[in-house]
Formats: sequence, C-alpha cells, structure tokens
Amino acid sequence: MDPRGFPTSLPEFQRVFPNDQACAKYLEALRWPEGFVCPKCGVVGEPYRFPTRSSVVLRCRTCKVNTSLTAGTTMQSSHTPLSTWFWGAYLITTQTPGQSALQFQRQLGLSRYETAYQILHKLRSGMVNPERDLIGGKYPVEVDECYVGGRTQGEGRGVHHMALVAGAIEVRRRAPPSDDRTPAPKRKRSVYAGRLRLRVVSGLDAPPRSAEALSAFVLKNIARRSVVRTDGYKGYADLVDVGYRHEALTLRGDPDKAERHLPLIHLVFSNLQTWLLGTHHGVSQHHLQAYLNEYVFRFNRRFYPMTAFNSALGLAVNSAPPTYAQLYSGAWKHPA
Ligand SMILES: [Zn+2]
Repeated sequence: MDPRGFPTSLPEFQRVFPNDQACAKYLEALRWPEGFVCPKCGVVGEPYRFPTRSSVVLRCRTCKVNTSLTAGTTMQSSHTPLSTWFWGAYLITTQTPGQSALQFQRQLGLSRYETAYQILHKLRSGMVNPERDLIGGKYPVEVDECYVGGRTQGEGRGVHHMALVAGAIEVRRRAPPSDDRTPAPKRKRSVYAGRLRLRVVSGLDAPPRSAEALSAFVLKNIARRSVVRTDGYKGYADLVDVGYRHEALTLRGDPDKAERHLPLIHLVFSNLQTWLLGTHHGVSQHHLQAYLNEYVFRFNRRFYPMTAFNSALGLAVNSAPPTYAQLYSGAWKHPA
C-alpha cells in the first residue's frame, strides 16, 4: 500500500473499487469533501440518490435539480460503467509500457474495439498536457538525442522517416543511510532519475542537430546555471555562453565511458524505443510528440500514481482525497 493511500497492486485496486457505487463514492468525495453542495441553489445537505446501480446522478432535495458526478470529467456523457473507466485509468497510468487499444479491450473485457479505442483516447488526452516548468536547478541534468523510427501509411512494412528526439533528465542522488556498512558493490545505485523532458527536434525550423535546435531545447526546458551533461558533440558547445555549467564528455568513441557519463537518459531512450515499437508498432511523425508527452507524463508521476490516475479521469483535485482505509472499509461519510 502506497502511504498516500493509493492501491499499488491490481488485487488492492479491485478491493478499493469493486463496483460502480465505490467509484461514484470516490467521485463524490473528491468533488464535495465537506458534503454535497447543490451547484444550482447552493443548499448543503444529503442529496437524493437513485437506487439504480449505474446511476451517477445526485438530486438536490431542495430545488430538485439533478447533478451528474461525471460532469466536466473525462467520463462525461459516457454510457460505459464507472468501474470500467476506473480500471482503464489505473491500467494506463500505472502500467509501463502503456497500452494499445487492443490490449486495453481484452483487459477490460469490452466487446467492441471502438469503445476501447475511445476510452483509451480520452484517458490519454488527460495525460498529454505538456509540462512547462524548468527542470534542473540544484540537480544536474543529462541531455542527449536519439533517432526514433516513424511509420507512414501506404509505404509498406518497416521503418521510414526517422525523427530526432532530444531528451533531458534530472540526476538525483539517494542519501546513503548514516550507518550504511554495505560494501559498495552491493549498494543500490546511488543516483536515480528525477523529472524528464522529451521533444521532437527534427522538422523544426533549424536543422535537427544544429546548435540552434539543441540550445533552444535546453533553454526551453532547463533552468539557467544548472549543470548540463552532454556528449562531446559540437552542437552543445554554446551552452556555457547562454548560462549553463556544461560538463561535456571529452573523449569520444568509448561506449562504456558514455554510459557512465549519461546513464539515465540512455536508459530512458532505450525504454522509449521499446514502448513505441512494441506497444504501438511504430508511431507516425505526426503523432510522435503526443506519445512523448504521454510517456513523460507517466514517467514524472511514477511515484505519485494517484495524481496520474485523477488526471487521466479529468478529476480536478483541490482537496485531500479520501484515504484507502476510508474507501476500503466503506466508512467514508460526509461530515454532517
Ligand atoms: Zn438545489
């Protein structure tokens, strides 16, 4: 169990959200943590609940106006049960490497591919908001590029139209326990990945591997004065001039050395390629940035599964959600 109260395994998830009523209760708790307030007349008080199992509607006892629990969310106006949406959001936000519509249809037990495709598409649209804050600062940042194979309809099998993707990732350091007597080779790796940014840099105005394109990527994504680690490529030579502390790998041609200098971004590129090829059988250049945004979204929230889950469902969360214990025991109630 995640300390923040979010299920960390499929069986736990099923215990917390066993049916549509449990999901409805969650939506209600998020939206009205202090108890139902009628959006129409503003009266506070227990609403009328319809006895039908699938109902997501609450009726004000004063003005008799119905309020939908899914209004303004990803699930709005959908005929698919809440539990299917919740299950889908859990799968798409917690399972690297993501889901194809066909896998999704099978796992959700949906009879129609189109339904699975639409649910997946809507959940994804809650996950592709480009992240705008600058990374780095007190954390060093690894920067590199890789080529990603695209696919174009009507050109047959195989890979066409490689796209160049630039990536930046924060290097964070684990604090070693003060009494750590573990011999160095047995210790966990002392660094781990912080926030990630990925951007298609081919097809922009400047030539893809030009100093302009790479500097523009760094300037747009990394805070000035951060330590930026790159390989020895001359496209990065200007970084000191624009205000970064640049650590370039000077000796080229030794893959082991490059691996030690840029381990995190290389790992990200390798996982990204596997995801794009394996899950989506290649992605057209046109949609590549949206897929990169989804990848970044999931990666940056891997320690905050509840935030990712709520975002995919389109739930605006301004207050503390109910805890697992409250949901699980069924004891969650509005304060009177
Ligand atoms: Zn009312």
